Amino acid sequence: MILDKYRECNLKDVRLEGIPSVKMNRFLTHRVLSEFAKTEIFAEARTPIELRNDDEGMPAGGMWRGEFWGKLMLSAARVADYTQDPELLDFIQKESHRLMAFQDPDGYLGSYTDKERVAFNEVTGKMMDENPSFGWHCLWNIWNRKYIMWAMLMVAKVTHDQEILDSVKRQMDQLIDMMHRQNIPLYITGNDQIMGVASMSLLKPLLMLYEETGVQKYLDYASEMIPDWDREDGKGPNFLRNAFNGKELWQWYPNASFWAKSYEMMSCLDGLLEYYRVTGEKRCLDAVAAIHENLAQSEMNPMWDVGFVDKFIGAAHYPNAATELCDTIHWIRLSYDLFLITGDNKYLDYMELAYFNAFMAGVYRDGSWTAFSIRAATRHEPNFQCNCAYNHCCVNNAPRTYMDMAAATVSSDQQGTFQVNFYQDATATLDGVKFVIRGNYPVGDTVTVTVSSPDAKVRFRKPGWCPKMDVSQDGNVYTLQFDMASRIVHRSTENIAADANDPNGWPYKRYQCVPMAPHDSVILNYRKTMAATMMRGPLVLARACRAGAKPDQLYSPDTVNGKPGLSLKLTPRPNEVCWGCWDAEILQNGKLLEAFPVCDFQSAADSMFGAPKGNTFSIWV
Ligand SMILES: [Zn+2]
Repeated sequence: MILDKYRECNLKDVRLEGIPSVKMNRFLTHRVLSEFAKTEIFAEARTPIELRNDDEGMPAGGMWRGEFWGKLMLSAARVADYTQDPELLDFIQKESHRLMAFQDPDGYLGSYTDKERVAFNEVTGKMMDENPSFGWHCLWNIWNRKYIMWAMLMVAKVTHDQEILDSVKRQMDQLIDMMHRQNIPLYITGNDQIMGVASMSLLKPLLMLYEETGVQKYLDYASEMIPDWDREDGKGPNFLRNAFNGKELWQWYPNASFWAKSYEMMSCLDGLLEYYRVTGEKRCLDAVAAIHENLAQSEMNPMWDVGFVDKFIGAAHYPNAATELCDTIHWIRLSYDLFLITGDNKYLDYMELAYFNAFMAGVYRDGSWTAFSIRAATRHEPNFQCNCAYNHCCVNNAPRTYMDMAAATVSSDQQGTFQVNFYQDATATLDGVKFVIRGNYPVGDTVTVTVSSPDAKVRFRKPGWCPKMDVSQDGNVYTLQFDMASRIVHRSTENIAADANDPNGWPYKRYQCVPMAPHDSVILNYRKTMAATMMRGPLVLARACRAGAKPDQLYSPDTVNGKPGLSLKLTPRPNEVCWGCWDAEILQNGKLLEAFPVCDFQSAADSMFGAPKGNTFSIWV
């Protein structure tokens, strides 16, 4: 095993606090801790595994509802670890046993009646082409099983329940044995149009199971998977070779909007990092670091997530931006793992920017739901999947990001030096040293960090966006003064994607997500040209109804993008419904061009549509 550069906090030793935690606690309560969550939400997620009906009525392929239970339980297991709530700890154990009642004698536990249905062949692929479920090759048997195994492994780790761990081992044994018997490598299973990345993301929990049990069979199967990402014939995604080919990821193969499925792909990269941890195979780490950098350049959208609604299509080259919350969640996870392993603070910058912007904008303030697609303007897209009332892919994943951010608050390196990574109000204890962080960061500019031990060696991360961070010390209280750098962020107008405004193109349709009337504001305000954005510290700012902007101050086809000599002046503005609110003035060489109220991106629209005043908004300027 390779030791990480940094160690994180145990979840039970951290409390995220301050204004963002109010929404987080509401969300965790509604989605995981409440009676409603335990009875209604979990029951709906459990149903496809009880009925095994994800492949019902489909002669080939099958649905992905079977993922919902695992995603929700993965979140619940971590929230139980964080809260140590005895009732939740009891629930996750009992709920896992309820699911185990549906496990076949051979070990299979999943949502497909035909458990052997894992890949398309010539006949079934053709059937899917002729009668496509959603216009693509829908088949998620192994993906769904991955989430069940991973979630139950986390429950076993938190509750120390050996029977649950045994169930996971039998599930994994059956899967490996079945794949060997069918003689099918994982990279051709599932939706073959996305190059097996859904099934191959099994790598991470497979290795975690190896680390937990020491069973050689699991490491052997992982080692069997790796050569399929290092292929002579170039078949995709071939991470270990393509990582160094100098091309933007979406250009690796034709038709990226088909194959480059963002968060499944990032889940595979997570697995490669785990393979590096277990085996020391440095090429795996180098490939992931290179692909991360590739994505940061070619896929970064102005909400600081990567991708364009679940695909890598060169999102940085599109005038509009929309992003799936699952992608944000996995971009944060991937960045965090790279930080822990390498100790490079640039990865914390990516985490922070994605957390405060795309992620927080996607979690609704009443705690009931998350967006599926977060748009840069007008409104976010809530999405309902597979006729489910209470479950969809993003909302079930979302608690994990709060838990990742909590664990990452403070880290310790191998020499025992602490690094305070994030400055949201929080209390965190690591190796017996307690850190109390206060200051309403990043709406507030001044943060105090009280450290319980005067002898502790502590350093403070200076955010990459921050031109100046002053640190002063008075006994065991450190005061950090941040220059929050109000600024206009320009976007490159070179290499704008050719299909950016093609109404028949995938990105245009994907931006809408659902069919819309031609007069819908999402369509009317679809940008034709690149526009700039505004930022203060790590916060993207939005012109918004909630900030007090009038309708004619919200959208403009014009832009200041590329104009020289611009500056942004912000004056705090009282507001009861926004976290941060300011009167904004855009100046060119000191002369006023435009003035309007703005708020932090999260506050602009973190709820379902929005009445009575509406919550429409735009980050473009
Ligand atoms: Zn999702």
